[in-house]
Amino acid sequence: MAEPFRLNAKSASPGVASGPAFLAEEPKAVSAAAPDIPAAPQTPGGYGVLADAIDVAIGELERLAEGADAESRDIIDFQIEVLGDPTIAEATGARIDAGENVVFAWVATLDAYIGALEAADEEQMRARAVDILDIKNRVLGALTGTPVADFPAGSIFIGRDMEPSRFLAHDWSKGGGIALFSGSTAGHVALLARSKMVPMVVGTGRFSAADGDPVGVDGDAGAVVLQAGGTPMPSPPPVERPAGDADTGEGLRTADGVPILLSININDAAEIDALDPATAGVGLMRSEFSVLSLADAANEERQLAIYRRVLERAGERPVTIRMLDIGGDKPLAGLDDLPALSASGLRGIRLLLARPEIARVQVRALLRASAFGRLLVMLPMVTFPDEIDAMRQIFRDEAAQLTRRALLHRMPPIGMMVEVPAAALMLDTFEAAEFFSFGTNDLTQYLAACTRDGIEADSDKAAPAVLRLLAQAVKLAVRKPVSICGDMAGDPSYLPALLAAGLRHFSVAPARRPAIRSAIIGLNADGTRAAGE
Ligand code: PEP
Ligand code: MG
Repeated sequence: MAEPFRLNAKSASPGVASGPAFLAEEPKAVSAAAPDIPAAPQTPGGYGVLADAIDVAIGELERLAEGADAESRDIIDFQIEVLGDPTIAEATGARIDAGENVVFAWVATLDAYIGALEAADEEQMRARAVDILDIKNRVLGALTGTPVADFPAGSIFIGRDMEPSRFLAHDWSKGGGIALFSGSTAGHVALLARSKMVPMVVGTGRFSAADGDPVGVDGDAGAVVLQAGGTPMPSPPPVERPAGDADTGEGLRTADGVPILLSININDAAEIDALDPATAGVGLMRSEFSVLSLADAANEERQLAIYRRVLERAGERPVTIRMLDIGGDKPLAGLDDLPALSASGLRGIRLLLARPEIARVQVRALLRASAFGRLLVMLPMVTFPDEIDAMRQIFRDEAAQLTRRALLHRMPPIGMMVEVPAAALMLDTFEAAEFFSFGTNDLTQYLAACTRDGIEADSDKAAPAVLRLLAQAVKLAVRKPVSICGDMAGDPSYLPALLAAGLRHFSVAPARRPAIRSAIIGLNADGTRAAGE
């Protein structure tokens, strides 16, 4: 059994507690089951919807204040006061008037406020950031109909910081304690912990522990004891291998010995469980199946939790997460102007650039998740090189913000789907893309002027043109990792031509993997049938 591991920290509230760990990486997110968020900004209801949500949040806080001691009431009063502050309402209202959706307007206004507090010189001010984060999430929860979640009584809360209302809503009579990676002894939760005699330490730095592990908090000496062992987590190690150059998987080769990577495509994050040792990694995760509504798209913490889980489950193996490919046949519930956007040609990356508030939330979640595994980010429906430059700039801006806020993150390699004929023909001009992946579903649709639903009927007839384009494009992608994740990769009958075109990395639906695997073994790298096959 592992030796207990003791981490020195700062005491924020005296006393000693032990119990199962509850890992709250970030303040708990709104559930995936959240209903679609209300009306789009242009509707006169946008501002009214926000006012109602603020009222709900105030009502919840007032209920929390009932029966609370004077200190707790002071904190809640401060939060209610902020919620009633006309400057916040005005700043949010201005964003709504400028055409932003009510949820994103609220998130952006509060994020700016939180960012300013976190950057303050005085510790007292910095400690208030989590109070504002608390009300941001409470109103977000009210807007999307999902309350802020509690955690099991008697457990040790472990996280970056803790919101006061989470502390107040929790039943501490069964024991438990708090260990925060950062936090402040001057913060409101520390104050509450002292008054309720809940042992608490802050400034532990990040450390690894699993949910349910036995943990001790020594608020007298200022330490955390991980009974099952553990390690502090240093800043993320640099990504050593080039993008897409996976070295895992069980050494799949063609009959003449050329190494081939076989990855899986996943839609739902739960499908990551299909990643077995014979798989090189995730070649495509379609994030639009995890981010189903505008409420999900506004929720950075929820997205972070989903991406992080997938990356941690994948371990050493690379995971390529594609940014939201919304538009065309792919809806986002609550984005009411989608038909109009699609009609003006906005889809995939163009739509993300036209609605940067959606992109920015996802970019932050991806940057933060990237610290927990080998993430690659893929951009959908790229047509022109400047689209990648513009998205890269968003990544740089958001990374700078995260650095200012001292939030763990890492810049992932950024590559692109090759699924628009104009991009495939000009692939050598996409200097800013670090890797390419062919999306033959859309490539076929746009090359053969068939509808997406009609691809099935026309795929055989369109295939020669698609394969010729692929072969040309592979040659243009000099020295950059290239893969294929469209459905063609999962059809063994196309494999000889795809190998002949020079493709060596195939990403297919988990169910297609056995068939593709055995087809590869029976072929030479030039696509010819192996002797004796
Ligand atoms: C493709 O177009 O081939 C692809 C992989 O993307 P999607 O099927 O999600 O459009
Ligand atoms: Mg596509």
